[in-house]
Amino acid sequence: MNAPNASGWKPGTPVEGHNAMSGPDTATGNRALMLEEPLLFEIGHAETTGVDLPEPQAGANRLGGFDRKDPIGLPGLSEPETVRHYTRLSRQNYAIDLGLFPLGSCTMKHNPRLNEKVARMPGFADVHPLQPVDTVRGALEVINELAHWLIELTGMQGVAMSPKAGAHGELCGILCIRAALEARGDAREVILVPESAHGTNPATAAFAGYRVEDIPANSDGRVDLEALKARLGPDVAGVMITNPNTCGLFERDMKAISDAVHEAGGFVYCDGANFNAIVGKVRPGDLGVDAMHINLHKTFSTPHGGGGPGSGPVVLSEALCPYGPLPFTARTKDGVVHLVEEENAAEFDHTKAFGRMTAFHGQMGMFTRALAYILSHGADGLKQVSEDAVLNANYILRSLEDVLDAPFGHSGPCMHEALFSDKGFADDVSTLDLAKALIDEGYHPMTMYFPLVVHGAMLVEPTETESKAALDQFILALRSVAERAIAGDETLKAAPYYAPRQRLDETQAARKPVLAWNDANLT
Ligand SMILES: *Cc1c(COP(=O)(O)O)cnc(C)c1O
Repeated sequence: MNAPNASGWKPGTPVEGHNAMSGPDTATGNRALMLEEPLLFEIGHAETTGVDLPEPQAGANRLGGFDRKDPIGLPGLSEPETVRHYTRLSRQNYAIDLGLFPLGSCTMKHNPRLNEKVARMPGFADVHPLQPVDTVRGALEVINELAHWLIELTGMQGVAMSPKAGAHGELCGILCIRAALEARGDAREVILVPESAHGTNPATAAFAGYRVEDIPANSDGRVDLEALKARLGPDVAGVMITNPNTCGLFERDMKAISDAVHEAGGFVYCDGANFNAIVGKVRPGDLGVDAMHINLHKTFSTPHGGGGPGSGPVVLSEALCPYGPLPFTARTKDGVVHLVEEENAAEFDHTKAFGRMTAFHGQMGMFTRALAYILSHGADGLKQVSEDAVLNANYILRSLEDVLDAPFGHSGPCMHEALFSDKGFADDVSTLDLAKALIDEGYHPMTMYFPLVVHGAMLVEPTETESKAALDQFILALRSVAERAIAGDETLKAAPYYAPRQRLDETQAARKPVLAWNDANLT
């Protein structure tokens, strides 16, 4: 097929934005081992198929006239064409298995292969959520054992295992808070959220029907305790505090915050996405937290992003436990783990559940991986995980603060992530330019422009799984691009030069994404 097509690419013609690595154009558009790859629709044909099925027997269908009259037009490909398509695309991507992935807030740590092996054991991989409970006792044991660890590590009373991501867990926690307030006939309307919060916090509170108000930060980058106290009152349902916060700092006043919120009749939600930095060191329950989600896909190494789904169990205080969602697991005195559902909730004295978050029990594959991670580290190993994560982040912070501005470098050691700003860059060079140049150095960029409280923010999270040698190479790369940004190196503007694609119109891609292919794209 040689016609122009949806991506504008045809064999032998480099597309706009295609990498401009020096050297003559090739006939194929390939660059040595970096192979070009068009869309499935451009390489497949509706009349080809990779499988060989007998013609269906003609017979009456029961679709009531809604059956398709025309061919569906999906491209058919052979097995090798399909395998090569996805393998070629995967080579144009970056992955934690290729190199250090410094995305702050996202905790991109190595996914131990042992966990993958355990999750693939047929007894775990093949269970179906509709199997009779008697046939999945082992799976319930796993859920209950993981629940036990999460409760112990956080010093809380109970845990809702079913939420499927951090944001889903936030919603679960806020719905528990709302149920507890409604149970006492208290219609509070406001949730307070710090300015530096992850966008999911205000979104969750608003989605649950609350009005969101900002809590200011002090010059240290932490919650301004006095300003918070001054705002508390009978209309405040609760606060959502991230600890450690998104500036990479531990909220030292957490206990005082909780005491003040409780005294004013509200509840304390803690965004626990950064639990990675304190696991085994601090128990949020001791700090007065009422609800906190844990991102298994961050703290406990289960794959995420392109690698797998999230999982966001929510630990709950004694005050919120009665309202926690169904289903959950409970061990009775005879040692048997039960699944508590609508039909047996009364037997387990759990009649005030606010409802449920999911159809079934949560992300089983992530539970097995997280439990394998926890058991292979043990209590002492988990403590070392957080200590090493914090040590690695501080190594990056202190190694680069002579060249990059660290807005809270004066606030003491950081936790698991190092925060820099664009202060000192030449006028026409932005954080985006630096990030694009980092791609040429072989790294996925760090988190950019977040948290919003810092201008041109760069949030770097190395995690505990990187060696000193890996950190040193990353520091070398970041130092080099930072020096170019300060010097106003004009070549930064067109970076990356060595990626499969150069500077793309990301705004256009986000605002007007082309998600469906059709013949109209040909013109
Ligand atoms: C990742 C993260 C979230 C959201 O978690 P998801 O699993 O992506 O929904 C919320 N808050 C913070 C601070 C995070 O880092």
